[in-house]
Amino acid sequence: MKDGFGAPKNSTFPLPLSSLTRPAERNALPCLPAGAAAAGAPAARVATPQTATQNAARTAQCVPYPKPTLAPYQTHNQTHNHGAAASKSHSEVMQRTQPSEPNPPSPQRPGLMVSEAIRRAMVARVARQGVQDPLVLAALDNVPRHMFIEPAMSAQAYVDASLPIGHNQTISQPYIVARMIEVMRNGGKLGRVLEIGTGCGYQAAVLSRVAQEVYSIERIRPLHELAKSNLRPLRISNLRLQYGDGMLGLPQAAPFDGIILAAAGLEVPRALLEQLAIGGRLVAPVGAQVQHLQLITRSGKAQWMTETLEGCHFVPLRPGTA
Ligand code: SAH
Repeated sequence: MKDGFGAPKNSTFPLPLSSLTRPAERNALPCLPAGAAAAGAPAARVATPQTATQNAARTAQCVPYPKPTLAPYQTHNQTHNHGAAASKSHSEVMQRTQPSEPNPPSPQRPGLMVSEAIRRAMVARVARQGVQDPLVLAALDNVPRHMFIEPAMSAQAYVDASLPIGHNQTISQPYIVARMIEVMRNGGKLGRVLEIGTGCGYQAAVLSRVAQEVYSIERIRPLHELAKSNLRPLRISNLRLQYGDGMLGLPQAAPFDGIILAAAGLEVPRALLEQLAIGGRLVAPVGAQVQHLQLITRSGKAQWMTETLEGCHFVPLRPGTA
């Protein structure tokens, strides 16, 4: 299943990895108390700022996962690319990782098989909740979510819940991650995709399995750094991270075939609508206390169509950087 959607081998990502160099660092990252949470459809658990911590507590008695360093998809013969940047047109050069080489679990590493089995169960659950896109389900199966969660909480990595990642933010619930990508993809081929709200980097990693090129922007510097650290061992060649205000989009890389917002605003920023390719699809949570996913399709140069989908609960979209 992993073969079908490996990182595309295109050469449109000439920029090198410049600072994803300290793999052990993520283990030292603190886990701050929960923030608001992302959640999903009526069938799915709706999280609130409180539920991320409750989610964390609810399954705290589970058996811990193996250490992230033993995660699948991490190869033993990796080399880091410290080459010079080809261009520095962005406020900060985006980061990229090396191509991933799926590493099948070996009999000597039973922990890996345990985490793979539990991840598979998570994927089956997401499918039962209504996500049907096989590419999206395969992507979910491919990304080791426990590597994006603070080690003390890794036992909860595959529960269908949002979890705290510090700075009052959360890693999104697997169901909503899958659902948004499914809606954005709509069964088609995704070229260039933009995510607003990298957080810990999980959804960006999932996106990298279904799109040719992924850009992801985070406004909170320590989370941008956390995502770099989390993603480093996965060596994803088609993903670039950007520190900045995602409400402005990324005009240098536009147009995008798809845009996903992982944080909710009262409306979708105009800049993002403008950076959508004609025929492109944007999926965003919209609202404050009551939020719904919105699908916005750009149907012409000055024409967008909006559909309101299921209820959800995301952290707020905020302007500027922190
Ligand atoms: N995609 C993440 C979810 C992160 S939570 C995952 O895989 O789980 C949403 C993130 O959006 C937070 O990290 C928050 O800081 C970020 N965010 C909010 N407003 C933003 C903005 N204007 N630009 C970029 N990121 C923003």
